[in-house]
Amino acid sequence: MADKELTCKDCGNTFVFTEGEQAFYKEKGFENEPQRCPDCRKSRKAQNNRGGRDFRR
Ligand SMILES: [Zn+2]
Repeated sequence: MADKELTCKDCGNTFVFTEGEQAFYKEKGFENEPQRCPDCRKSRKAQNNRGGRDFRR
């Protein structure tokens, strides 16, 4: 295995899918390569966590 360069679906930047991450994905049984760079993944996660449900109280 070697590091792989992928293109982010959201921002179009290239990012590195490292050997270690590839091994992690394999271990978890993920068939797909990541579609987004770490930055976009992070911001999506932050958005999900916000939820918006209790926002207005
Ligand atoms: Zn991105």
